[in-house]
Amino acid sequence: MSRVFFADIRSGFGYNLLDKLELLMNKLELEKKIDKGDVVGIKTHFGSLGTTRHLRPMYIRAIVDKVKELGGKPVVVETCGHGYGGGVWGIRATATGYLDVAARNGFTPQSLGANILILDGQWGLDFFTFEIKGNRLSKVYLPNGLRGIDFMIVASHFKGHDMAGFGGALKNLGVGLVAKPSKGLVHIDGKIKLEESEDVKCTGCARCAEVCPVKAVTMVNGKPVIDFEKCIFCGFCYSRLICEPRVLRPKWTSSEEGTIRFVDNVFGVISYLGKDNFAYINFVIDVTPYCDCAPFSDQIIVPDQGILASFDPVAVDKASYDLVNQAPGIPGSAAEEKDAMKPGVDKFSKIFGHNSAVLQLEVAEKLGLGSREYALEWVIPEAQKENMKKT
Ligand code: SF4
Ligand code: SF4
Repeated sequence: MSRVFFADIRSGFGYNLLDKLELLMNKLELEKKIDKGDVVGIKTHFGSLGTTRHLRPMYIRAIVDKVKELGGKPVVVETCGHGYGGGVWGIRATATGYLDVAARNGFTPQSLGANILILDGQWGLDFFTFEIKGNRLSKVYLPNGLRGIDFMIVASHFKGHDMAGFGGALKNLGVGLVAKPSKGLVHIDGKIKLEESEDVKCTGCARCAEVCPVKAVTMVNGKPVIDFEKCIFCGFCYSRLICEPRVLRPKWTSSEEGTIRFVDNVFGVISYLGKDNFAYINFVIDVTPYCDCAPFSDQIIVPDQGILASFDPVAVDKASYDLVNQAPGIPGSAAEEKDAMKPGVDKFSKIFGHNSAVLQLEVAEKLGLGSREYALEWVIPEAQKENMKKT
């Protein structure tokens, strides 16, 4: 059974949420993990252009300050977004684009007190391959920037996700900490096709061929032909920014298949850096139905719960998932629309109509990434205890 430390959402004089976050980090005894001079990555997600409920930068700043206090060298790390359809989604597809979004959302070296490093470079293609024996995948594409990291603190906004059911610590690694080809393999099912209609045709502009980083696209009689032996599913050719008529279309994986694949990626990331070189902090705050890759933040589905910390990514996600399910739904949210208001109802399965939330935890446990069995240990600041006595 894994230990998960939990601080509830209540705040007061002498016990704000940053105080609580520090107490949780003290409980983890990070000084036993971080040696003087260690480079400590703090992995988070900066939100998208249009999100308003992504993780707030001051939490990351508090983690940066703790790492400095322990003598480590903090660096806030991320990877390029995949790009998918282009448009607002595609802005995060390059390092410069994503850094611009990060700054708009409040994440800058000044606000964080540490540099920001996009680990897979400007195009998300600065990677190396690492072999794994996953359920579906035999290799993972890891960002080259991972090579210099001694320890990783994974700070995750816990919220819903239409493919995975929810996004927490596991998803922050399995999609968030891999390079673009591994992101593509989670979402794309081995085929990108030319889909023309009566009204919309390929113009023969050849931009898809020009942009392909591995020269997998050849123009034949004015139309693209893709060599899938070469294709690394980077997502450039079918981006709306490249293929303006949007006739080049990927075939998406099912929720179940994508979930199994992203957990394989988690296995790769953890195997590469070493299981003992990670700590996980989940923020069950602003639990939106959709993830922060979407260019909006919908009404939250349950009241804010608090912050959890553990060395086990499966346990911290399971505990966060249980807190959400045990909470009442928020009126006017997707929880109400999908009849998931009652405490005890599986919110994400109801909202998305599939069981990927349960599946990702099961598959991760079977791959040895952690345990669904956990002991939740409440961490209550002295000032809060005093206040509780009075009331
Ligand atoms: S064909 Fe080329 S550009 Fe298109 S997804 Fe594959 S590797 Fe990327
Ligand atoms: S980018 Fe789109 S329109 Fe241009 S050649 Fe490729 S498929 Fe055709």
